[in-house]
Amino acid sequence: MFDASKVRQDFPLLTRGDTVFLDSAASSQKPEAVLRAMDDVYRRGYANVHRGVYAWSEAATAAYDAARAEVADFLGAPSPEEIVFTRNATESLNLLAYSYGRTFLKAGDEIILSELEHHANFVPWLVLARERGVVLRFWPVGVDGTLSLAALDALITPRTRLITFAQVSNVLGTITDPRPVVARARAVGARVIVDGAQSAPHMPVNVADLGVDFFVCSGHKMLGPTGIGVLYGRRELLEAMPPFLTGGDMISRVSFEGATWNEVPLKFEAGTPAFVEAIGLGAAVRYLSALGMANVRAHEIEITDYALERLSEVPGLRILGPDTADRHGGAIAFTLPRVHPHDLASLLDQRGIAVRAGHHCAQPLHERLGITASTRASFYVYSMPQDVDALIEGIESARKTLRA
Ligand code: PMP
Repeated sequence: MFDASKVRQDFPLLTRGDTVFLDSAASSQKPEAVLRAMDDVYRRGYANVHRGVYAWSEAATAAYDAARAEVADFLGAPSPEEIVFTRNATESLNLLAYSYGRTFLKAGDEIILSELEHHANFVPWLVLARERGVVLRFWPVGVDGTLSLAALDALITPRTRLITFAQVSNVLGTITDPRPVVARARAVGARVIVDGAQSAPHMPVNVADLGVDFFVCSGHKMLGPTGIGVLYGRRELLEAMPPFLTGGDMISRVSFEGATWNEVPLKFEAGTPAFVEAIGLGAAVRYLSALGMANVRAHEIEITDYALERLSEVPGLRILGPDTADRHGGAIAFTLPRVHPHDLASLLDQRGIAVRAGHHCAQPLHERLGITASTRASFYVYSMPQDVDALIEGIESARKTLRA
């Protein structure tokens, strides 16, 4: 049985009990197992990877390789060589826009991306479009906050080369199933990139079953440390792509005349990698797998369902995005009439409640929704109904203070 109150005991910062933490969509808290895994490397045998022939370096290299295998297993990637470690989802997406985009897309080619994308999956394509004359077409968000296949069908043309979207929106919580998108992309020979920054932490993901070409996520949102991100890519695509960053580790041979590249994934990992962070991420996915990702998702549905119900009791409160938990990831954004999200977040902070206020790095989406900002509460494995109750009490108190 999944027991969030027991899970919470594994998170040192949460056991302090001074903060109701409702900002996991921005970054999650870290369990003891992750802290320990990283501490162990530094205390018991730290040295750079891929370089030394001595024990500490060999142990660090083996642990780094093991972390890659664990992440591959967690995401259902057929092989660890299809997992590239980056700094975060943003870097993974930039890698794709620079390496894949600038090699395989040309003027007049079309990229479809959704209106609800995080800036990380927006700006790299905007820059590519401006530079190369690639055409961006935006998959519109429906009034219910979802991305419909009918709307996608209306955008796909024989010139569609790439379709990219977030599996779970960091604002609306909208869940979009990649499978039917992949089927449509295949029909016109287009590639699919899934931004899994908000899905990989919260639900079972199997990139091979989904059939996607690329999938990205960030370690820090899935119980791991900052500074480590993931790019999954199908091997033949990664092999066909040129390096993104160049330097040490990513080469096979360098002479005064030129250089040849290392095998994938190392071709994309220039310089000393964040191997301690990768090892921390390995511990994080081990921890999540032990909880069971189906249980993690079931818990999220339960807490989201409760939050949607309690929030809908607040007079005038407008929930952005789908209104049922089964169609909703663990982030709920909302607006309150006559209350600015920053004022609300500050008043909640005075009660020790941490939520996010602003555009959540999705300004085009807010523009589409006709607002400039929203307040977002987001949940994870350690979130409990009393956190939601505290939020509701905080909102009621803020409404009184602000006479809203
Ligand atoms: N995509 C989505 C959907 C996100 O929520 C985020 C983080 N808020 C990102 C991409 C970017 O992640 P990072 O800042 O870790 O690169």
